[in-house]
Amino acid sequence: MDVIDPATDEVIESYEEHSPSNVDEMLGAATTAFETWSRRPLAERERLLASAGEVLRENAGEYAETMTREMGKPITQAEAEVEKCARVCDHYAEYASAYLEPEHHPSPPGTAVKTVHEPLGPVLAVMPWNFPFWQVFRFAAPYLTAGNVGLLKHASNVPGCALAIEEVFREAGYPEEVFQSLLIPSDRVEDVVADDRAAAATLTGSEAAGRAVAATAGENLKKTVLELGGSDPFVVFADADVEAAATTGAWARNQNGGQSCIAAKRFVVVADAYDEFLDRFVEGVESLAVGDPTDPETDVGPQARKDLLDEVHEQVRDSVEAGATLVTGGEPLDREGTYYPPTVLTDIPAGCPVDTEEVFGPVATVYRVADEAAAVEKANDTEFGLGASVWTTDRERGERLAGDIDAGCVYVNELVKSDPRVPFGGVGVSGYGRELSEAGIKEFVNRKTVWVA
Ligand code: NAP
Repeated sequence: MDVIDPATDEVIESYEEHSPSNVDEMLGAATTAFETWSRRPLAERERLLASAGEVLRENAGEYAETMTREMGKPITQAEAEVEKCARVCDHYAEYASAYLEPEHHPSPPGTAVKTVHEPLGPVLAVMPWNFPFWQVFRFAAPYLTAGNVGLLKHASNVPGCALAIEEVFREAGYPEEVFQSLLIPSDRVEDVVADDRAAAATLTGSEAAGRAVAATAGENLKKTVLELGGSDPFVVFADADVEAAATTGAWARNQNGGQSCIAAKRFVVVADAYDEFLDRFVEGVESLAVGDPTDPETDVGPQARKDLLDEVHEQVRDSVEAGATLVTGGEPLDREGTYYPPTVLTDIPAGCPVDTEEVFGPVATVYRVADEAAAVEKANDTEFGLGASVWTTDRERGERLAGDIDAGCVYVNELVKSDPRVPFGGVGVSGYGRELSEAGIKEFVNRKTVWVA
């Protein structure tokens, strides 16, 4: 596995893939580790998770640099990501036992009936490169604490992150086999999902990868959680604080180089606010500093890989050919590295690529709509259903839209974000199942009913 620094196009590291017999051994070790790990008191697993949070904070600079080198995330955003991982460790170290308390049920006189939550076994996590630490901790913090063991198949461009995360758990005092990184390409995932020793699978990534893993898991009757793509609407009304909406929107679209599942992607603006919003939004987008991701002043670094940059540019080019207006950006930067500038498109023809597909880069589409009903219609005009952001000072309207928009979450006067305290996940082709909070830790447990007469 060659790692290419997207800021320089240079190969900076090479890793040996794990052979099929290595993977076989790791699956065996995971199964054995599960026997003892699942029996350890929950309080011990919580303490170890708190230590993992400490290890993250102690080595934050080193982990952030690894992310930045491998996938081009601006260094300040990488540091913030490590801190967020530490926070999810803090959260489950504090709340796991409360979340996993037995549930007592009404039952006939003289009986005691409850549900207890038991771990399932080794869980395979197939993860993407865009938040290479966060996506993994979002899975590992709850599931390991519930007593499962983890097998990570990370994206092929971030093996250094995969191994660094393994190291976090080891340094925190976890038994080695409780969390293992499999360095394998995607065409070997099917074998792991189908292996009897893998109990379940979770995948964060594209729709195609989700369908592939879920199909194999389905054939083998294994539970899956899928966190897939999004094309989130960001709806702005005339009564909104338009300046705040524009500033937040510019950031919501372009942080992490625009490579976020919950980035605001389609800006749906009611006519009375359109001109003011567009002016301020374009100003916000153009003020972002694009450049060297190791520079703390940088807002937008390179795209993570050349093929991904090419895909984004093709979506923009085809949409402009179909009649969209290019307001700013729109051409890869003429320099070493895979840089694409923050781009804004308006007058979007129905059915062009940026209208219907997820754009995984710093490209915003801005739509003018007549009124609330048209705004809801445009917001829902997508097969994705991950998140949505609504901007209005009328809180009743905000609540109403939260009901009308088909998505896993709606944030009013706030950008869409994930937070350990609240459930996260999508509907439609954005996937199913929930991560984080109580819902997240209960996805991979056997909810066992115990009826005592
Ligand atoms: P991706 O190409 O689907 O890759 C994600 C992971 O799946 C990688 O580990 C990849 O391995 C693996 N994979 C790819 N094809 C596979 C297959 N056929 N069978 C088994 N595994 C397969 O996605 P990406 O480009 O890295 O990430 C971007 C996508 O992730 C976007 O659609 C984004 O919206 C979504 N995403 C969703 C969330 C969420 O929480 N809902 C969060 C972040 C990202 P290789 O690297 O070896 O190909």
